[in-house]
Parts: sequence; structure tokens; C-alpha cells
Amino acid sequence: MALPTKLLIDGNLIDGAGVLSVVDPSTGAPFIEVPRGSQGEMEAAIAAAKRAQPGWAATPLVERHARLERFADAVHQNADELARTLVMEQGKPLGEARTEIAHAEFFLRHFAAADLPAAVVQDDAALRVEVHHRALGVVAGITPWNFPVLIACYKLGPSLLLGNSFILKPAPTTPVTSLMLGALARDIFPAGVVNVVTDANDLGALLTAHPDVAKISFTGSTPTGRRVMASAASTLKRITLELGGNDAAIVLDDVDVAAAAPKIFAGAFLNAGQVCIAIKRLYVHDRIYDALCSALVAQAGTTVLGNGLDGGTSMGPVQNAAQYAKARHLLDVAEADGKIVAGGIEARNGGYFVRPTIVRDIADGSALVDDEQFAPILPVVRFDDVDAVVRRTNASPYGLGGSVWSDDLDRAYALAQRIDSGTVWINHHLHFGPHIPFSGAKQSGYGVEFSEAGLAEFGQTHVISIAK
Ligand code: NAD
Repeated sequence: MALPTKLLIDGNLIDGAGVLSVVDPSTGAPFIEVPRGSQGEMEAAIAAAKRAQPGWAATPLVERHARLERFADAVHQNADELARTLVMEQGKPLGEARTEIAHAEFFLRHFAAADLPAAVVQDDAALRVEVHHRALGVVAGITPWNFPVLIACYKLGPSLLLGNSFILKPAPTTPVTSLMLGALARDIFPAGVVNVVTDANDLGALLTAHPDVAKISFTGSTPTGRRVMASAASTLKRITLELGGNDAAIVLDDVDVAAAAPKIFAGAFLNAGQVCIAIKRLYVHDRIYDALCSALVAQAGTTVLGNGLDGGTSMGPVQNAAQYAKARHLLDVAEADGKIVAGGIEARNGGYFVRPTIVRDIADGSALVDDEQFAPILPVVRFDDVDAVVRRTNASPYGLGGSVWSDDLDRAYALAQRIDSGTVWINHHLHFGPHIPFSGAKQSGYGVEFSEAGLAEFGQTHVISIAK
């Protein structure tokens, strides 16, 4: 690999105290060893970030913009190597990996042009009151293994834009592209402004409890999110949590099944179902239930499962051994609670392959419907009463996204307003962008990412009130 894969601490690329063996999920075998950070190295990264932060915050905005733009350029110039490495560590098909890198660049360019200017909220004979947004200090970005490059970049961008320094801690099963991002960042940002430290799931807690870390921007599972929140309480640090979801898609009886099926399939099976905002339970009206199940089965039959680097592959393996074991268990659940009409395990080359699986004649109460599967196994649940399906959708402790599918937009809109989630899509699913607030309702999150509201969470509101 041409790009270095070392830890980045205080502007230095270092080997680290230990080693992480990174597995290619399409073979189940290690393909590279990269440094594993120690507690001492994480402490050194925090100290470096703390030292560098005031200078970075004092750097004129135009200069911070320019450096973020250069970082986006570097991601662009190295897109091919980043995408191929992403396939090897994460498993997704090369086309999806290229899209992830392009999205990362797009988000970086958005933040490289964004601003959160001061606002004057009162200016009269008595007072002038201004609201500014100051940097918080050291921000830690803790990322999961499903979109390691995109999520790292959309945490780094707003952190640096507002004058914070940044420590990236990737998931242990996908550290390689994050280390490559560190190598690119080293040549662009002053020493200590960006640091990248890997771990074996053992250093996140150090970050969340550390008094010199001002904010945790966390993306991962709901159980870990709870631990982050509890730990952050000791120092009352700022947290943004983007957590798990169990998005329902509700398909009304008037949809054009042939037109909707490919879109619903893509919304459920992108990245082998390992997307926080994927369709995870599909509620289909009784009148079109059989037709939509058949269309999804046909769609599953066109999927080419394989190594993401092989041309023609449209779905890769699930990302890691633990997730594969969970998927195998959920296939047993599907067998017991419903009827598998497409999919199942595909034993091939030691990889973690699960074919896109459609499970019909299954009901709420099954773990496959009620819990987040994060795997390519879609339960299709029948309904005939819209009010009841809204109740069933909203009964979940999750509330990340959801969608409503209907050829009657007024009907769909009225239904969308009743769904308890941060986002509801109508006749699509999975869409988000840096200008759109992204926020999980209930136990799917805490705080907002993206948009002005998300940007403000990377700063401290600072009011200057002047008596006249
Ligand atoms: P995870 O919670 O196991 O791990 C996420 C990160 O947290 C990793 O970097 C891990 O090392 C770190 N971590 C582990 N223990 C920690 C601790 N005690 N303190 C701090 N950090 C700790 O999640 P995962 O399995 O990597 O990712 C899958 C989950 O992420 C799914 O539930 C998915 O829905 C969710 N996710 C959510 C979003 C979103 O935006 N809402 C996006 C992607 C993934």
C-alpha cells in the first residue's frame, strides 16, 4: 500500500505499542497488520490535541477553510487507494466504496465552505447582544465499521471548521482507511490538530472519561452509546450520539409494486444491510403483500454476492465474524418465526457471506422484527390496518428513520407526520446530506449532526452582551 498506515500523534506517524491484525471479510483471513494504540499513546494524542487547539482556533477562518479544502483534494487524489483498501477491510463492493469516498469528499468540501457566523439577537437603545460560537477544545470522533471513511470525515470536518482539534478512533475491524486519512491529514494540518489512534475496543472509554476531551462525537450501537453517555457524565462533556435504528418502511396498498420493489430492496440491502438507516422491517399492505414479496425475491435473485474487488459483485460479505455469527443466529430465528423465501448462508472461501434474505409470514414479537439485525435479512410483515401499523412502528425504542410508500402523496404525507423518528422519507429511503439535520429520536440518538444545528453542537455558544 502506498499510503502509510501508522498512528498519527502530534504530527508524527508512529508504529504504536501493539499490532492489530485486520481481517478481509471475504476470506476470513488477515490481510494486513497495522499499529494498535496503547493507553499511553492515546494520552499523548489527547495532550497533543490540547496543545494544538488554541493555535488552530486562532487561525483565521479563511485559512481553516483552505486546509479543509486541501484535505478534500487529498481524499480525491487518493480515492482509488482508499476505495480499494476500504473494500478489503470492510467488504463492500468497489462501486459502493468509491461512492463512500466521493461522499466523504463532498461532506469535507461542504464544511470547507461553511460558517457559523455570529448573530445579533438584540440591538436597541439599551443593549447590543451578540451570539458567537467558540471552539469547544478537543473533540474525539469514535466511529463504527460500516462507513469508516465517510463517518470519520463528517466528524473531522465540522470539528476543525469550528476551531477544535480532533482525535479519530476507528472501530478495530476497520482501522486501515482511518490511518490512511491520518497520513493525508499530517501534511495538511498543523501538528496535533488531527490525531488518529486505533485500539482493540479498549480505548474508547479513556476518551469518554478524559477531562481534556471536551466533546465526543460518537456513531455506533445503542448499548455502547449508553456507556458513552454514562462515562461522559463524569466530566459533563458534550456528546452527540448517532446510534442504532430499526427503520420501518410502510408500503400502502396503492403503490406500483414493480417500480417500488428495486428501491425498497436497495434501501434494505445496501452495504449488506449494515446501514444505520437501512430498511430493517418492511410493513406491506395485505392487498399487495404477495406481489411485493415475489418482486423482492426476484430482485434478490439478481444479486451477485462476492469479493467486492471482483467486477460484477453487487453485494459483499458482512463485515466481521461477530456480525456473521449474529446473522447466522437470525437466520435460525427467521426459520422458526417466518418463512425464508430467498437467501441464507453462502459458504465460500472462508468469507462471511449471507445472501440477501427475504423472510415472509413473520410478525412483530420476533427478534428479527423487533431488534436491529444490521445484516442482509429483511422481515416482511403483513398489515391491513394503517392505524395499527403506525402503533407497531412507533412501539420501537428506536426512532432513527422510516419511510412511507404510496402513489398518493397526500396520504403518504399524512402518515409520515405520525411516525416517531428523526427522519421520514416518502417513496425513498436512506437519503441524507450535510445541509439536512440528522438526528435519532428516542434511543437512536442524542443531538443532531449536519445542518446549522449540527454544526452548532461542535461549538460553545458565547454571548456578548453590551450595555449602551
Ligand atoms: P459499536 O458500538 O460496537 O462500536 C462503535 C465504536 O465504539 C467503535 O469504534 C468501538 O471501538 C467504540 N467503543 C466500544 N466500546 C466503547 C466504550 N465503552 N466507550 C467508547 N467507545 C467504545 O458499534 P459497531 O458494531 O461498530 O457499529 C454498528 C452499530 O452502529 C449499529 O447499531 C448501527 O446502527 C450503528 N450506526 C449508527 C449510525 C448512525 O448514524 N445512527 C451510523 C452507523 C452505524
